[in-house]
Amino acid sequence: LIRRLADTGDLPDEELCRLLEQLFCHEAEEYRDILYKTARKVSVQTFGNKVYVRGLIEFTNYCRNNCYYCGIRAGNKKASRYRLTKEEILLCCREGCALGLRTFVLQGGEDMAYSPQDIGDIVAAIKQTWPDCAVTLSIGEHSREDYLLWRQAGADRYLLRHETADNAHYGKLHPPKLSLKHRVQCLYSLKELGYQTGAGFMVGSPGQTIECLVKDLRFLKKLQPEMIGIGPFIPHRDTPFASESPGSLTQTLVLLSIVRLMHPKALLPSTTALSTIDEKGRELGILAGANVVMPNLSPDGVRKKYMLYDNKRSEGSEAAQHLDQLASRFAAIGYTIDFGRGDAPSFR
Ligand code: SAM
Repeated sequence: LIRRLADTGDLPDEELCRLLEQLFCHEAEEYRDILYKTARKVSVQTFGNKVYVRGLIEFTNYCRNNCYYCGIRAGNKKASRYRLTKEEILLCCREGCALGLRTFVLQGGEDMAYSPQDIGDIVAAIKQTWPDCAVTLSIGEHSREDYLLWRQAGADRYLLRHETADNAHYGKLHPPKLSLKHRVQCLYSLKELGYQTGAGFMVGSPGQTIECLVKDLRFLKKLQPEMIGIGPFIPHRDTPFASESPGSLTQTLVLLSIVRLMHPKALLPSTTALSTIDEKGRELGILAGANVVMPNLSPDGVRKKYMLYDNKRSEGSEAAQHLDQLASRFAAIGYTIDFGRGDAPSFR
């Protein structure tokens, strides 16, 4: 099945289901190694032994939503809230540019204190100051008009994980106000507007089954996003999911590899959540077929406040200021950092 998936880029749902069941088995280590190696080879064929770096600016932890899994949900009264000004965001970009970064990812909760025009102004200011840099937005669900405004202001990419492609599961992770249908509509609007678009999901979120995962894989195949974000679910102590178990390293790596085989040219990050559950998570993600990392470029004083899940890492090689540490960790596994803009191959 692994070979057929690698050759054809897809399998019928029943076979994907069987493959996941088999690879999740404790004893399947040998097969998992074959899978990782095959996915790694596919990634290297497109991107070489290189990893794109993005500067992640977590510019607000205010959010109007109440996703049950998320530490910055509106209902978490213990969260210490912050939002950055345009000038503070530009300072982060200035620092990032000096470090050699050429993509800035502006991520935050759905914070309505920034008007659509404010966000457009921030994007336009970054693009005017550093025209050779790419701007990625990751600020949730908004109207098509707002997405258009930001695209016209110069935004290049947009990350919006679909979280789960199963309706009932979506309902277990989110309050009734939020719907999978609307999230998917947003993703299609973003694609239509010419954004390099990112979807994705957490592995091991409460209530997730193998059938849910197969639906995720099917949805991604249909959407054909340029970027796919996959990381383990990790509980946060002040959320309704505080006592749930985290997603596993193995299952996350298996899914990264399968997604790589189904999307040979997608930009696939090895996520902070992966490196939070395992000291070697970043490297293992790369060795399973990922080709992007997003070190933290937020100001020091707020990093610890963007706490989506317990013990989220933002220091050492997670910090954009320590790209040297990241580079030497990658060198140890035979990879180098690519300081290019790192557009999706179809957009180059
Ligand atoms: N508000 C934007 C949105 O909804 O896309 C962007 C910010 S949101 C915090 C970014 C991502 O964090 C989500 O898509 C979700 O998958 C991930 N996330 C949130 N809570 C998490 C948790 N407890 N464990 C792992 N990932 C989590």
